[in-house]
Amino acid sequence: MDKNKRPVCPHCGVEMLPWMPPPDSSWGAALQFVCFNDNCEYYKKGWQHMWDNFQVKASYRHRFNPDTGEAGPLPAWSENAHKDRITL
Ligand SMILES: [Zn+2]
Repeated sequence: MDKNKRPVCPHCGVEMLPWMPPPDSSWGAALQFVCFNDNCEYYKKGWQHMWDNFQVKASYRHRFNPDTGEAGPLPAWSENAHKDRITL
């Protein structure tokens, strides 16, 4: 994969940002790509979905692992969650 080319979020079409998981996290130690667009529909709908289903004030952002090709949600408990680990 071209390291200079960032994947685009399938939900909002915005370029995803490189994000380094915290140590010992279940996402492994490899760099991931995460959609940090606060207007992403996936992220915006997540708040309502989590509240309706789990009574939890949280959402999730779209995450993509470039090593495995696996994509999934990255839980976000606030708008600024995980933003301190964006690796630009
Ligand atoms: Zn998005």
